Amino acid sequence: MSRLLIEGGTLIGLAEPGDVHPDTDLYAEGGAIRATGTQARAQAASPGEPVERLDARGRWVIPGFVQAHLHLCQTILRNGPEGLELLPWLEHHIWPGEAAHDPETLDVSARLGLAECLASGVTAILDMGTVRHSDALFRAAGRAGIRYTGGNVLMDDADATPVNLRARAEDGIAETERLRSYWHGRDRGRLSVAVQPRFAVACTERLLRMASEYAADRKLIIHTHASENRSEVDLVRARTGIGNLALLDRLGLLTSRTCVAHVVHPENGDGPRLAATGTTVVHCPSSNLKLASGVCPVSTLKAAGVRVALGSDGAACNDRLDPFAEMRLAAVLPSTANPPGKLSAFDALRMATWEGASALGLPGGNGLAPGGRADLVVLDPDAAWSIPHEWSPEPYAAIVFSMGPANVVATVVDGVVRYRGNDPTVMGLKPRPAEIKTAVAKLKSRM
Ligand SMILES: [Zn+2]
Repeated sequence: MSRLLIEGGTLIGLAEPGDVHPDTDLYAEGGAIRATGTQARAQAASPGEPVERLDARGRWVIPGFVQAHLHLCQTILRNGPEGLELLPWLEHHIWPGEAAHDPETLDVSARLGLAECLASGVTAILDMGTVRHSDALFRAAGRAGIRYTGGNVLMDDADATPVNLRARAEDGIAETERLRSYWHGRDRGRLSVAVQPRFAVACTERLLRMASEYAADRKLIIHTHASENRSEVDLVRARTGIGNLALLDRLGLLTSRTCVAHVVHPENGDGPRLAATGTTVVHCPSSNLKLASGVCPVSTLKAAGVRVALGSDGAACNDRLDPFAEMRLAAVLPSTANPPGKLSAFDALRMATWEGASALGLPGGNGLAPGGRADLVVLDPDAAWSIPHEWSPEPYAAIVFSMGPANVVATVVDGVVRYRGNDPTVMGLKPRPAEIKTAVAKLKSRM
């Protein structure tokens, strides 16, 4: 059973803005936080397995970042064409690229993304995956030791999707069930399977209904995209006669287990609809700006009672997988609304951590109190370019506005240190440049 003592850090639990505890030890055993303060050292001294130690003096300890919307299969598709909006970008770059993947290229793409996640303080991810070879993604996530919720993507619409990247509704659901029966709950519960209809445009109503019924039956997370781009919203209305989120609601896909990426263009009634169903919106600001989709009205959605988490989306439309970049944008973009909205640094940090963890139904909350999961990040506030506590008594603005992955000195998942220091190979996970080159060449030759 893993044992970890984090010594002398400032614990910033994020339960509320005053949840800041300087010079406080933290002890975790078996993946759970067992004690903080004076009790921590006493429990670490008790007989048992060797105790791993992290010196956190002068450092800040916060709950781990949750990337609530990613596409690890797209990491090696980064640095692609510029200037395309969502639908042509999917057609010309993403769908041919995803269709070209084999298990080896998927593994390289996933490991590159997972290494970046661990080096950025990410402890849990919700990954959209692709249509085939999904075992490669679970295998890579297992190797990283990260909390991973993912699965195959469901897409079956013959008019809207390419023939080499679609699966019949029955086959798609059967593949999700196969993945569930093998992977769900593995690695001490760190790996989970989600039901993932890509978005309404790519799916027949029959598939969406089957996905909804299957997810309800198995109590699985539902992960989809909606109302990202104006043309997408118009297309769904032209096809079905109703709004995008109204359609998902009618088909039973909006639930308290559902994460909907984007919602840049909500329509009348969508805020109350999302709030009433307990659906989580995953805000992906970098991706929305790069694909000219617009800005998600986060302040309005939150005022309506909607839970909003954060994600980087795929590296092909970001092109980073950096939670600090998303927090910073999430905090500054509301001021572009008319009338201007507001999101505090504390709220942005909560979105990147607690809200994502709640959306994924992670056990035991996401704070730093005994009983919580030992999924956390150690930040060095003196590294890189931040100057902590010179002008503000609270740590939140420093973390959100001036820190970045260079401030991450350790990432702990399930009580085990999965990243330590500025190791460029991130615990042996990052593919070598030659591996990446070979994988990209393979994709190009098949596209
Ligand atoms: Zn996405």
